[in-house]
Amino acid sequence: MAAETVSDLRKAFRSGKTKDIEYRIEQLTALKKLINENVEALTNAVFKDLGKCKTESMLFEIDMLETEIEECLKNIYKWTAPDYVSKTLMYKPMTCYINKEPLGVVLIIGAWNFPINLTLMPLIGAIVAGNCAIVKPSEISPVTAHLLAEMVPKYLDQECYRVVCGGVKETTEILEERFDKIFYTGSGNVGKIAMTAAAKFLTPVVLELGGKNPAYVSDDADLEITANRIAWAKFTNCGQFCIAPDHIICSKVVQDKLANCLKESIESFYGTVVAKSPDYGRIVNERHFERIEALLEDNCEIFFGGLRDKDTLFFSPTILLNVSKDAKCMQDEIFGPILPIVTVESEEEALEFVNSRPKPLSLYLFTSSGERIRKWRNETSSGSFAANDCVIQGGLSTLPFGGVGPSGTGNYHGKFSFEAFTHQKSCLEAPLRLVEGANHRMRYPPYTERKLAWARWIIFGKGGSCNIL
Ligand code: NAD
Repeated sequence: MAAETVSDLRKAFRSGKTKDIEYRIEQLTALKKLINENVEALTNAVFKDLGKCKTESMLFEIDMLETEIEECLKNIYKWTAPDYVSKTLMYKPMTCYINKEPLGVVLIIGAWNFPINLTLMPLIGAIVAGNCAIVKPSEISPVTAHLLAEMVPKYLDQECYRVVCGGVKETTEILEERFDKIFYTGSGNVGKIAMTAAAKFLTPVVLELGGKNPAYVSDDADLEITANRIAWAKFTNCGQFCIAPDHIICSKVVQDKLANCLKESIESFYGTVVAKSPDYGRIVNERHFERIEALLEDNCEIFFGGLRDKDTLFFSPTILLNVSKDAKCMQDEIFGPILPIVTVESEEEALEFVNSRPKPLSLYLFTSSGERIRKWRNETSSGSFAANDCVIQGGLSTLPFGGVGPSGTGNYHGKFSFEAFTHQKSCLEAPLRLVEGANHRMRYPPYTERKLAWARWIIFGKGGSCNIL
């Protein structure tokens, strides 16, 4: 089944239709129409899967995708045009340029936490770059997955773009096929499976993974503002957000004040009975609920929250104080509404702690010092870095979105998506004359000192020219 689908898409790709820019524009416009005409159905599906409120779906799913398509439509001619490059002397009579060509048939494996965005955003990149694509939404958000499978064929050309639903079995089967790129979003463990499958064919990958994103709050930060920004980023989508702050690192003094400010922020956002807030989401399923619950150890110091109800998958915003660096919740990414605070004696200890752990997807810093911002930016490594805010760096399509090392490989959004699905082919067109000039003869054997000096100068600009001429 998977083999047949890939073979059909290969045939369609070889027909050349996706290479036509007008065709790509038509498909992108159709995808925009799909989104515009089905806002209610799409946001309702996400609500059914995640209890996500309409505002969050509008911002993070619908509007982000629409803006991305508009950006592609605005720039498609510019991005697809060849780039003519600068040349040294030998190349002057030649035309040297980078041709942008699609890779072929690509596989996109989406994740469940932003089930429309994480599935269609890479598809936009695949389309604008002229590829055919198989899209595999996450089975963990089944309502959205099936809605996409039903809608995409109504709007997009089925010969070139397919949605395949399924879980581990189906994905394993698809991964046995050869693709020209695999774009995977999800956990690092499955990322390894995708990368191993890709390695069999030397297929390039983009891996959009996760990690434990630290937020260091310096003693000089305004704590009320910091609390609002961290609380919003952490509890949006119930903490199931790959670039949400995973934990806070700060001094003991800051912890004691910040914890109260965080409590106030949470109550001002969701009221004192969070379970009744229409704006607070739910955990995606029982398995994840149990996983998050297991992070609360018997001896942990719950300052706020900890309320939960497995039947309704409600898990309240939860703040833990004085969390030890080797506590259960400090091992793997939390990906839920638990916010541990780890205290340190000094900023150096905080830096050392961050740098001793795997490179995160995002790193956040709250401070009023520009010098400290530069210090943290330069002395740490993470997919993205934001000072005095969280998460919003992912909403700007002129910034690449992606991890580094264990938090991911490659990036996308805007022009970076186009590049992720494009081969930049080096092209050189030389004139073919009847008689070859000195420019050619100087690089043919038999080699001489004089030829070498000439070649070095004319090709690389090295050495003087007067003794040659
Ligand atoms: P998930 O369970 O939806 O899995 C992701 C995809 O992998 C799904 O399509 C699923 O069908 C497939 N899959 C699962 N098991 C598989 C297997 N054994 N073989 C083949 N395919 C398999 O999502 P998840 O892994 O729970 O996602 C959460 C993780 O994803 C977190 O770590 C989070 O940080 C990360 N994430 C990263 C980004 C990003 O953009 N960097 C975005 C969202 C989530």
